[in-house]
Amino acid sequence: MSHFDFIVIGAGVIGTSVAHHLASLGARSVLVVERGMIGAGTTSQSSGLLRTHYSVRQNVELARASWWAFNNFAEYVGDDEASCGLVKCGYMICAPDGPKLDPLRASLDAQRAMDIEVQLLGRDEARERLPIAQFDDAALIGFEPEAGFADAYLVATSFAKSARRRGVKILEGTTVTGLVREGRRVVGIETNAGRFTCATLISTQNIWTPELSGWIGVPLPVAAERHTVLALECEARYSYQMPAFKDLGSAGMLYYRSYGGSQMLVSEGVVGETLNAPETEQGDISLDYVAEVGAQVAERFPAYETAGLASSWTGVYDVTPDWNPVLGKMGDIEGLVVGFGFSGHGFKLSPAIGKLLAQHALGQPTDVSLAPYALERFATGALLTGKYGLGAVS
Ligand SMILES: Cc1cc2nc3c(=O)[nH]c(=O)nc-3n(C[C@H](O)[C@H](O)[C@H](O)COP(=O)(O)OP(=O)(O)OC[C@H]3O[C@@H](n4cnc5c(N)ncnc54)[C@H](O)[C@@H]3O)c2cc1C
Repeated sequence: MSHFDFIVIGAGVIGTSVAHHLASLGARSVLVVERGMIGAGTTSQSSGLLRTHYSVRQNVELARASWWAFNNFAEYVGDDEASCGLVKCGYMICAPDGPKLDPLRASLDAQRAMDIEVQLLGRDEARERLPIAQFDDAALIGFEPEAGFADAYLVATSFAKSARRRGVKILEGTTVTGLVREGRRVVGIETNAGRFTCATLISTQNIWTPELSGWIGVPLPVAAERHTVLALECEARYSYQMPAFKDLGSAGMLYYRSYGGSQMLVSEGVVGETLNAPETEQGDISLDYVAEVGAQVAERFPAYETAGLASSWTGVYDVTPDWNPVLGKMGDIEGLVVGFGFSGHGFKLSPAIGKLLAQHALGQPTDVSLAPYALERFATGALLTGKYGLGAVS
């Protein structure tokens, strides 16, 4: 068979979510084409944090719309054995006096106005929840009890399994090399396994979206940016009961969570290293870098002054100028839907994004408006820039 109603390029957590939702919403003929293996792109590099905390209200909406799926994952994908690896440890975020304080207060207020449970903690209450940290400088501490983290690879493979069970065909090891066009309409793809035609093409190519840009001849604002993640180990264990934590007071806007129930996973929430080409190869991590991040960690977590480096890795974000995704159609090109530019925070949004893109592709009303995420915002100036500066909180 070489004709499908829908073709999805990419089987990361976004593409597999689109496929799952297309099939759940009644699409009969869906093909997913993946160059490598399911989830083996940037999805497998994810830190997996789940929160609804954002300074951009539209993102709060998308994160909230995704939350039921993570909490009821087996039911959501219709498979009793499915798990997303959810660790519901809560999410704590703190700011000292200074420029991040008012944005944090406004974001917490906005969440509460949307009926999301958010608590304000005193320093002692924060220490009770995260006893390995000190909060002497904290002027405001927010806590989201329903948040936590999960496993993005498990989510992608579960979405893929569900999609396959519902009749979706997933071709791994197959590369899309170009589009088939009839005037302004996209009608198919060229691959190393031949030509496939479709009524609607959905590109979820992440850092490889510049390929699409070349095929359609439209510049797309997305760059590949490498980020480093460290796992640290010391006697002060970072247990699964301790919340994930965002330190708006640190130079690197560091985020933390438990890693394996005892180690600390830490990474920066600021602009990373721009790559000239999309690739997920491991980058160099210098000892100077580890020392620089380690010094910031030790300020917040004193026992980590003498922590050892247990492991480290790099991952790549698909970053747009306002650090928020582009969702929906591509100008006046017909038959094409895109989802790219997740800028390091796409996992927590993946159930909602998959459903919204599927609804959009099916011509159905979307649960949440995609209009704020239109490509045109970069021309009109209606950007979705977060209030904490550029970085993955948005
Ligand atoms: C280090 C790191 C930490 C992160 N932490 C978090 C976090 O804590 N919370 C959070 O919400 N998000 C986080 N993210 C972001 C989140 O993981 C990503 O937004 C999400 O996984 C992206 O999924 P995707 O499907 O868009 O991309 P990918 O998983 O990269 O999938 C795209 C797929 O498209 C395929 N493809 C591309 N072009 C072609 C082609 N021409 N032919 C065939 N196949 C093609 C690729 O092979 C790839 O598998 C993090 C990301 C990184 C890198």
